[in-house]
Amino acid sequence: MEEQGQKCRRVVLVPCPYQGHITPMLQLGSILHSKGLSITVVHTQFNSPNPSLRPEFDFRSLPDGVPDHIISTANLVDTIALINVNCLAPFRKCLDQMMEQHGQYGEIVCIIYDELMYFSEAAANQLKLKSMILRTTSAATLTARVAIFRLKEEGYIPLKDTILHDPVPWLHPLRFKDLPVPGIQISESLLQLITNMYKIRTSSAVIWNTTDCLEKSVLTELQQQCQVPNFPLGPLPKIAPSSSSGLFKEDTSCIAWLNNQAHKSVIYVSLGSIASIDNRELVEMAWGLANSKQPFLWVVRPTSINGTEETDLLPEGFKEAVGENGCIVKWAPQKEVLAHSAIGGFWSHCGWNSVLESICEGVPMICRPCFGDQWVNAGYVSQVWKIGLELGNKLDREEMEKTVRRLMVEKEGGEIRHRIKNLRKEIELSITKGGSSYKSLSELLELIN
Ligand code: UDP
Repeated sequence: MEEQGQKCRRVVLVPCPYQGHITPMLQLGSILHSKGLSITVVHTQFNSPNPSLRPEFDFRSLPDGVPDHIISTANLVDTIALINVNCLAPFRKCLDQMMEQHGQYGEIVCIIYDELMYFSEAAANQLKLKSMILRTTSAATLTARVAIFRLKEEGYIPLKDTILHDPVPWLHPLRFKDLPVPGIQISESLLQLITNMYKIRTSSAVIWNTTDCLEKSVLTELQQQCQVPNFPLGPLPKIAPSSSSGLFKEDTSCIAWLNNQAHKSVIYVSLGSIASIDNRELVEMAWGLANSKQPFLWVVRPTSINGTEETDLLPEGFKEAVGENGCIVKWAPQKEVLAHSAIGGFWSHCGWNSVLESICEGVPMICRPCFGDQWVNAGYVSQVWKIGLELGNKLDREEMEKTVRRLMVEKEGGEIRHRIKNLRKEIELSITKGGSSYKSLSELLELIN
């Protein structure tokens, strides 16, 4: 920890322990640090970020008490609920210690917590510290999640196949199929989680990793319903320097492979850090990619297939069939990959970070959402911003091959590419002086200081 002494002003960050949440929180930390604030990251033991990758930050670990059997069932809702119960007391203790050692650590001016780490607000409130919420999803996702209560009341849940393509009457432009709802009944614990993450409690602001360029009307509506200021200052990957959180080991060998590929010829395929598919779909993806004849870089995580830890998941004969035309890794340096001149498309699960990273690099997408907010994001990518194509329901190799070719070589793909380039330019303007995200960041800094 580099800054010491009375004058240092410290912001305490509390990320939620998953890749898609840790990344934007650390990006926000880098931005605040570049503006002269000192940063402490208080994290769970489970999925802890690697402190050596951010020597400029101070890291502290909380005993989260989440048993391995809950982690291994990948039940995110239960895990998060447990963290919120178990971490309040240790977090309070951690803050107490930092406040006692004020001379060494400086004054804590604000606690910024992931919307899922709402125990942080209770501790901040008890100690009369200012707190703010970081929302790591799109604004449309929050609106859609809150709408679940009404959908349930009006008998729409579980969603029926016959209405999936219809618009949700009060949620324009989303269709029922874009809602972040599991196909089955919604559990009480999920509804409770949504209530808890939506509540502002005593927090004094909401920070968003999104921007007016993408979601002006939803953001305006949310601000009208909210008593505290909302700061849409994203996209964070565009403002913060690129750096790994260290949860997964990056295989950088794919960059050398990309260096040998033609300009905009490669389709990058990744379903993020958590999503998994079944074995049938993985086999169809493999042959869809091979048959498209388009060069591809594919991230196949060891846990890419539901319920398996197998590392050799690909169908027999596939690697021989594609030869040098394909590169497969377990985890890629994604921001660097998307910025590479050989990349022409991104077949994505549409996690919010991936969507933002793709837009920031002007890379058009193929959308294969798997769960939760990915459905909302995919709806916006394909229907609202029109910067990507949806994969249909069949998920077979013919359809996949066709979709890759539509995006990478056909006229339709050229038009999509043109639109995403324009969006990228608008985003660049929004983060420069006079732009909406630039202004939001300045206002946030004023409130923190
Ligand atoms: N990512 C990466 N390498 C990979 C796959 C993903 O660095 O091989 C990063 C990606 O850049 C993004 C994050 O992991 O920042 C995934 O977040 P996202 O919100 O897209 O999806 P999630 O993993 O939360 O479903």
